[in-house]
Amino acid sequence: MELIDIGVNLAHDSFDADRDRVMQRAGEAGVTQFVITGSSVESTRKAIELARAHPGRCFATAGLHPHHASDLADTVRAELEALVRDPGVVAAGECGLDYFRDFSPRDAQRRAFASQLELAVAARKPVFLHQRDAHEDFIAILREHRPQLAGGVAHCFTAGEAERDAYLDLGLHIGITGWINDERRGLHLREVVKGIPANRLMIESDAPYLLPRDIRPAPQSRRNEPAFLPYVVRVMAAARGEAPEALARATTATARAFFGLPVPAR
Ligand SMILES: [Zn+2]
Repeated sequence: MELIDIGVNLAHDSFDADRDRVMQRAGEAGVTQFVITGSSVESTRKAIELARAHPGRCFATAGLHPHHASDLADTVRAELEALVRDPGVVAAGECGLDYFRDFSPRDAQRRAFASQLELAVAARKPVFLHQRDAHEDFIAILREHRPQLAGGVAHCFTAGEAERDAYLDLGLHIGITGWINDERRGLHLREVVKGIPANRLMIESDAPYLLPRDIRPAPQSRRNEPAFLPYVVRVMAAARGEAPEALARATTATARAFFGLPVPAR
């Protein structure tokens, strides 16, 4: 099966020692392409470096996570604007609102979010979205910009049917992680994913976070890797009553169309 990991923090320090081997293991597991999350100016730069080093295989997003929203001084905004336009960048973001952690003040979060939606519109690229405990403000801001936006994916979706339907109504795509493999907090998601049309559904590892809990034998390290993405496919396919191969084909086609990725050379 061929898979595209649409949300992997491959620029993260925890991969510094063995990034090439992590990518190789992912390739052996069928993950042919990576969309590497940029969540700060620094991690975006690293993601773009990786995209340049591995053309056709690695792609980047360029954004400021809501945790870092307070950093959006004018200089950072100008830097982000240039980064979003980089040819290796396939989406703006990670951007959005996080009222669960509230690491940045909420008004700063709303300003940074709206500002990045404007950058996405100007660059004609879709957005990679993060939302936690902020649904109403998130939808309100997004709705204002939606007519001009090329598209958006609600990454690491973990909410319920009402939020799913609100996103689908706005024409958004939805990204599912190994949260769904969690036999405690992920069970509701196995119901929720049944209502996501295949042409709106994508998968992501969110590595090094969110190690699927059903890997056997359990890895010694708690670090997640894109090579474990087939575990997410298996659980989601079972929930939807589909063959894993069919779900892999559908999510790969959806991701390729959404981000405008080429078919990889063999
Ligand atoms: Zn996120």
